[in-house]
Amino acid sequence: MELVLTTLLLISIGGCFGSFASSLIYRLPLQENEINILKPRSFCPQCKTQLSIIQLIPFIGFLYSRGVCLSCNAKINRLYFYNEVIIAVFILYIFSKLALTDLSSWLIVLIVISLYIQSIIDFQTLHLSQPISAILIFSGLMLNISIEFFTVPLDSFLGLTLGYGLLFCINEVYKMIRSRDGIGSGDFLLLGGIGSIFGASAIGPILLIGSSISLCLYAVNKNKEEELPLGFGLGIGAIFYCFLFIFFSIA
Ligand SMILES: [Zn+2]
Repeated sequence: MELVLTTLLLISIGGCFGSFASSLIYRLPLQENEINILKPRSFCPQCKTQLSIIQLIPFIGFLYSRGVCLSCNAKINRLYFYNEVIIAVFILYIFSKLALTDLSSWLIVLIVISLYIQSIIDFQTLHLSQPISAILIFSGLMLNISIEFFTVPLDSFLGLTLGYGLLFCINEVYKMIRSRDGIGSGDFLLLGGIGSIFGASAIGPILLIGSSISLCLYAVNKNKEEELPLGFGLGIGAIFYCFLFIFFSIA
């Protein structure tokens, strides 16, 4: 019975985090002054009608309105619902391996959700949020300095420097040859954050997974002129690495 209740609680928390992540994914790239991460209340992007309380409830809101706005019938982006499901699955996995009462487990939840948000924002807009990368750097350093969760503190600092510096240098070389930026500065900061979490030795594998994912996207995309969302690949690669780490290091 306790297991069922805990699972239900974690699914609800995952849904709430997923819903908040959706709102960050939508709002962070916006440059409009009147819309920020706290205000206004969620609304239909088409007709601007505010959502009712029931529509705000994770999972239920989307199913209740059958995926359309109840005022103007415009289709609601299915990604909102998927974000809630995906983050609930992430949380269930993390707490199947880590203790619910440990602060470090919640820091890992924060890290995974931040990586996910960055990935989706980059996929949709080719931009990355600097405050979220700052959260990643800070959480990575905190987790490793306090309990050496993923690696030792020195490796965490090295990872930060190497992650940022590597892409910075590759971009400088590219700039010398092509006279324009090849990699966005947001990607340097994101890989710096990933390095601070998993350490310098993880940069290679994550960069490999990340660029492979981005290249696969390039291969299936019909428009070959479009820029590659490297941050998307890096974020998903880092989440994958994090889950593998938890799987193999915590029996
Ligand atoms: Zn509407």
